[in-house]
Amino acid sequence: MGEVITGVDWQGVTGVDWQGGDYWCGLMGWLPVWNVRLEKMLETKNMSSEELQQEEDDQTQPPPKIRKNQLVDSIYKALFVVGSGLLVIIAARNSITWHCQRFWGASGDFWQRQWDKAYLLFGENDAMIGILGTLLWTMGVFWLANLFLMVLDVTGQPSFLMKYKIQRNTGLLPLSKLWTAVRVVLFNQIFINIPFVIITFILMSKRGCDIKGDLPTFQWVVFELIIFSLVEEICFYYSHRCLHHPRIYKYIHKCHHEWTSPIGITSIYAHPLEHLLSNMIPPGLGPLLMGSHLATGWMWFALALVSTTIAHCGYHFPLLPSPEAHDFHHLKFNQNYGVLGVLDRLHGTDMLFRKSRAYQRHILLTGLTPVSQQFPDSPSKKPQ
Ligand SMILES: [Zn+2]
Ligand SMILES: [Zn+2]
Repeated sequence: MGEVITGVDWQGVTGVDWQGGDYWCGLMGWLPVWNVRLEKMLETKNMSSEELQQEEDDQTQPPPKIRKNQLVDSIYKALFVVGSGLLVIIAARNSITWHCQRFWGASGDFWQRQWDKAYLLFGENDAMIGILGTLLWTMGVFWLANLFLMVLDVTGQPSFLMKYKIQRNTGLLPLSKLWTAVRVVLFNQIFINIPFVIITFILMSKRGCDIKGDLPTFQWVVFELIIFSLVEEICFYYSHRCLHHPRIYKYIHKCHHEWTSPIGITSIYAHPLEHLLSNMIPPGLGPLLMGSHLATGWMWFALALVSTTIAHCGYHFPLLPSPEAHDFHHLKFNQNYGVLGVLDRLHGTDMLFRKSRAYQRHILLTGLTPVSQQFPDSPSKKPQ
């Protein structure tokens, strides 16, 4: 990795020593400036002991000049991540529709009728479904996705799933610690989510977003999901990276990093300001920008909530997206700031991760053998 220098020699072409992610210079003039500012801002001299330890670990990173193929890598990564996500969505949609048609006798407009029923359920009132419906939907998805994980964390049952734990030395979760997390999460959901959903509903109404009308075509939904993912990646990566700024880290983001071995609900265990900036605005912005149908918004919010829950759950289960990257962020602090990994590739904030055992394990597990057995810790090194 990184040893082979490929791509265009921009230094030769431009006479400027562009480094790493600054390849964007030809495309977006602002990004090199922003990147250099960030690199300066994020110097770790004033950081806490954990981050200083991390700084030592980073001495093994290659110097910036051999990171020249990062733009190409990040584009490949974007295509790969978005492409594989699309395949999963298309396959899931086709198989759910097929099962509904086969066993429930549903007709071709199955999804439209489900949405019409939901609209009816909220009294055919735009504000009711737009605010109350959205809150119930998002909180329902979040707590349902986490219920099983919380039982597993506290009881260790069903025990055969414990072999999928990423950080094996953490033991069972004390109930008191779970309760602390639940209280913070409920606080954020009540005091941030509710006002945020009300304001977003007002903005989406002004933007002319559909609620009652026909559902968009599946192709359009897929296109919008790609845009939402990219908007979220950009907003989350930069807001998250700024929150790691040494001067503000301890006031805001340290709260989220209390969990060096995260669990599902800690995806929104955060300072309220961080919850707004990094957890609510990045996924909420896409539907607002695109003027999306509320139903598309609901689908996207559910995907985003389930995906962040998986990223924090602490288990690398078969057939689910790998949570190794964000788990590694909680372990090491200054790696893997993004969601998709595209901007981490671009800015080189995945260098240490890519040299770790966790990176080898960062795969979609298709069998029942845990990745920790497929790629065991090296006996000569401390576990990463
Ligand atoms: Zn996290
Ligand atoms: Zn962080």
